[in-house]
Amino acid sequence: KRVTVEVEGWTRTTCVYCAVGCQMEVGRRGARVVAVRPAASPVNRGHLCVKGRYAFEFNHSPERIAWPMIRDGEGWRRVSWDEALDFTAAKLRAIVAAHGADAIGVLGSARATNEENYLAQKFARVVLGTNNIDCCARVCHTPSAKALKTMLGTGAASNGFDDIELAGAFLICGANPTENHPVVGARIKQAVLNGARLVVIDPRRTELAGLADVHLAPRPGCNVPLFNAMAATLIEEDLLDHAFIGERVAGLDEFADFIVDYAPERVAMECGVSAADIRAAARLYAAGRPSMCLHGLGVTEHLQGTEGVMTLINLALLTGNLGRPGAGINPLRGQNNVQGAAHMGCDPATLPGGQSFKEAGARCASAWGAPLPERHGRNLLQMVDAAAAGELKAIWAFGYDIYLSLANVAETTRALSELELVIVQDLFLNETAKAFGSVFLPAASFLERDGTFMNSDRRVQRIRQVVPAPGEARPDWWIIQQLAARLGRAEGFDFAGPQAIWDEVRALWPEGAGLSYARLEHESLHWPCPDEQHPGTPVLYQSSFPVGQRATLAAIAYLPTPEQTDADYPLLLLTGRTLYQFNAGTLSNRTPDAVLRPADTLDMAPADATRLGLADATPVRVTSRYGEVVLPLRISRQVQPGQVFATFHGSEPLVNRLTSSIRDLQVQAPEYKVTAVRVTAASA
Ligand code: SF4
Repeated sequence: KRVTVEVEGWTRTTCVYCAVGCQMEVGRRGARVVAVRPAASPVNRGHLCVKGRYAFEFNHSPERIAWPMIRDGEGWRRVSWDEALDFTAAKLRAIVAAHGADAIGVLGSARATNEENYLAQKFARVVLGTNNIDCCARVCHTPSAKALKTMLGTGAASNGFDDIELAGAFLICGANPTENHPVVGARIKQAVLNGARLVVIDPRRTELAGLADVHLAPRPGCNVPLFNAMAATLIEEDLLDHAFIGERVAGLDEFADFIVDYAPERVAMECGVSAADIRAAARLYAAGRPSMCLHGLGVTEHLQGTEGVMTLINLALLTGNLGRPGAGINPLRGQNNVQGAAHMGCDPATLPGGQSFKEAGARCASAWGAPLPERHGRNLLQMVDAAAAGELKAIWAFGYDIYLSLANVAETTRALSELELVIVQDLFLNETAKAFGSVFLPAASFLERDGTFMNSDRRVQRIRQVVPAPGEARPDWWIIQQLAARLGRAEGFDFAGPQAIWDEVRALWPEGAGLSYARLEHESLHWPCPDEQHPGTPVLYQSSFPVGQRATLAAIAYLPTPEQTDADYPLLLLTGRTLYQFNAGTLSNRTPDAVLRPADTLDMAPADATRLGLADATPVRVTSRYGEVVLPLRISRQVQPGQVFATFHGSEPLVNRLTSSIRDLQVQAPEYKVTAVRVTAASA
């Protein structure tokens, strides 16, 4: 049935879901958003996916909380902004006085703008005096940022989505773009239909895997030996770009000595794939040059997540797939502004612009009129550990449902229960607020404020206010500003609005200096963009690397995860998203899209379902070493026998009752992608 919607005006802005960063025009009637249509943009080229196009009704959900509240026994008491802010400031002041500033942790948000994340980290460092500042990037692509920064010098994608059509081949690893980054997924699909070659490395038979020239479906947890085996093939079969290596790469001889132990024939059985297929994948990647590697959380959310990305970078260095269009190592960031949140300094170890304290500490301290805290900060997972140990007393979380999102709910519960103060700033009373919140500060949505987001390929784009915020909801930057003033730091936080905050960011971040609001009004730009005449940099590393003229190959030994199957837990559980929902479901569960995928499911191969006597669409009990849940079964040919797959969008932390506390060795991202489980009929 055709529905006609009367629109009073359209406002251009950026999608709030995934980090593709599609541009859209949002139609309003009165104070309501009533329609969304795609806007002309080099990112989405006139397309939007089902989420960007239709999943906006959360904005006017009756569950929206539009006034501040303070916990009152088992319930909540509506209060004025003055009371909520005075209460919060007094509590923070008392905790600092009793336990020191490091007893508080602040979490920025992928949902918030760059400007707001910048202000959140400035608040932590300047007002509170702690480097305990982090964001949800910790649990997804911090391993990518760490690997790229360490080996090449910039903790972000090397190439832009503009390059997709220039690639001769794609290497898609641990990512399902047609569901999770749908507009990019569609462009990859089209490029493949137009002749580009495709290698997909994923334990599941995803839509792109069905189109692939080679689909490697490894045992989860085996990325490092698998990527090493591809590197061994490149060297053994002399599929190298010798000119590139001669000019830009160091350490080939040592690496060649190391990598012989990972010849495909030696590691194929451990990886659960054939040596011939590993070799075929390596050959296609080398021959397709320029070959574009895009990877997702199937690479990063592992014990060796950071090292998995490093082994991918090795492949690009060996084949000269860096510094040229259509190539590169490109993490597919999950959330709209997760790249920006961390890049604005919501990371205990870095300052705005992803700069180290050595690079920018003196500049920031001078601009902020305060010395920077010298003690190492805790990241999100370390904050949770410190809470469990009684060392952290307060957490302030912006647009982030900690309880629902972190692995191993039992441990998260124990930790959050120990906190004296949990400040939740969000659109809705999320699960963290319901279970642990002390004070709720109502935030404006992306449709109710101005600012910028940074997408997955380093492109900075404007968001614009479309409708007024409901009731007393306020933008995050306003709330931070008010709390800073109550804690004695009005000066330095007295910005007139997002543009003034952004101008301070640009003054402190040389690679972002050229990204003025005046330019962003008409175009979107990739950083580095050091001055206002600079066109931006869609392709990094064209002549050298920030680490030097040469990048060094990394010899990474395989370390199997301790999370292994046994007789009690014989299946491996993988977790991931679906097209119609988004992450913790805070937004998408409150839209009509939720009807298309109303509940989390457990996908199982037909052979396993038959063997276990389980029928499609019946409830099954899933038990891990850490917890137990009941989910409806979905028999699916996408998953391999011996593995099961579950989504995690429900308003109950179902899947994370099962996941373990194993973390990436370098940056502590949880190992969401490997959990040993058993599955039985729920009625048994
Ligand atoms: Fe939004 Fe991502 Fe869909 Fe684009 S692909 S409309 S950014 S969810």
